[in-house]
Amino acid sequence: MPRSGTLAAVMTEAATGERLAELIRERQPVVVLTGAGVSTESGIPDFRSPTGIWTEFDPREYATLGAFRADPEKVWRFYAPRFAMLGEARPNRAHRALAELERMGLVRAVVTQNIDLLHERAGSRDVVEVHGSIRVSHCLACGAEYPLAEVERLLSAGDGAPRCERCGTVLKPGVVFFDELLPEAAIDRALALAREAALLLVVGSSLEVHPVAGLPQETLDAGGAVAVVNRDPTWVDPHAALVVRESAGDALAEAVARLRPDDESVEVVEHDPAWAEAAAAEAARVTEALEAVAVEHVGSTAVPGLAAKPVLDLLAGLPGDAHVRPEQIGAMEELGYECLGEFGLPGRIFFYKDTDGRRTHHVHAVEHGGDQWRRHLAVRDYLRAHPDEAARYAAVKGAAAARTAGREAYWEAKSAYVEELERRALSAPGRPPDPPS
Ligand SMILES: [Zn+2]
Repeated sequence: MPRSGTLAAVMTEAATGERLAELIRERQPVVVLTGAGVSTESGIPDFRSPTGIWTEFDPREYATLGAFRADPEKVWRFYAPRFAMLGEARPNRAHRALAELERMGLVRAVVTQNIDLLHERAGSRDVVEVHGSIRVSHCLACGAEYPLAEVERLLSAGDGAPRCERCGTVLKPGVVFFDELLPEAAIDRALALAREAALLLVVGSSLEVHPVAGLPQETLDAGGAVAVVNRDPTWVDPHAALVVRESAGDALAEAVARLRPDDESVEVVEHDPAWAEAAAAEAARVTEALEAVAVEHVGSTAVPGLAAKPVLDLLAGLPGDAHVRPEQIGAMEELGYECLGEFGLPGRIFFYKDTDGRRTHHVHAVEHGGDQWRRHLAVRDYLRAHPDEAARYAAVKGAAAARTAGREAYWEAKSAYVEELERRALSAPGRPPDPPS
């Protein structure tokens, strides 16, 4: 491509990014409707494109209730590898941008056709899953419900389809099959959201599957506007206030960068010996609230001499697969915490607390003895044992914060260093042995 062409494309992207940001800022409330295109950057193939899943597998054979009742084992030969792939997929820039817009108060809810849980894992809180999800599978015979972790366990333990442990019937994945009705509560909520949206932002959906494809019409009929971010044309394009033909990740990251307040400088302060005592006291309260096996003080405030953001990071080790029950979330709320779910890191439940309007506490609840548990402690113990490294790390943090154009720049500046640090910590000789799990 000639240089001038590239430049023109860049300028057009900047212009559409600004226009998208403007629409989001000015047309509140914003409701987002996402389809497969939002997850392709996470390595999840879509269904309907020329390289999509349905070109290889006939959905009538693998994704209908009729097919499932006729031969559930066959349907699971299709779903088992998909569950494995989806379990490993990570949220991408598009998911993270939408979660950030929600935290900024600029997105009311995300209505999604996707079953992959990636919006939730990125930290979106109000997600309406109109096509179900892999979160639970059901036994159609006795009604038992199996959460994803259980189904993954059954899949890896047995050969073939996961069966109900109570009655032996093959489980049905919680995704909506082609000949099934959509979950009523979800589609009702989606319709209500579409009608109250001043802007419906369609991302990565070609709007071909009904009734979801009709949601933009609901918005338009109620006097709202529609914007589309999608690689391919959709039926609503001629009626849209803006159409962006870019990847969802590019377009949304660009819009968020323009909407993010630029006064979010990062404060890095000298180490305070009082942090250790404050963390120990809070750890006792968190241990009780979460019924944790152990709670450890981690993060930069846990390392003597290391400059830090004045936020206490606590690592809570939970038994089993780091599941948190509603009453435990309630107990954390009584301590002043808000729960953000996995918040971008599968297998971790994230809580935070503000004191006097400032972020002061993070709690990362993970499986006790699991991979995340070991990594956090390895880095902390490595830094404690190597004051020279802690001093270098403090310098990196200080420089990143001083240079700050905001949080993003800070994270970028320190992330490469932290990755290298983690590599060294995990391979360090004399590292404490892994705790028995
Ligand atoms: Zn059963």
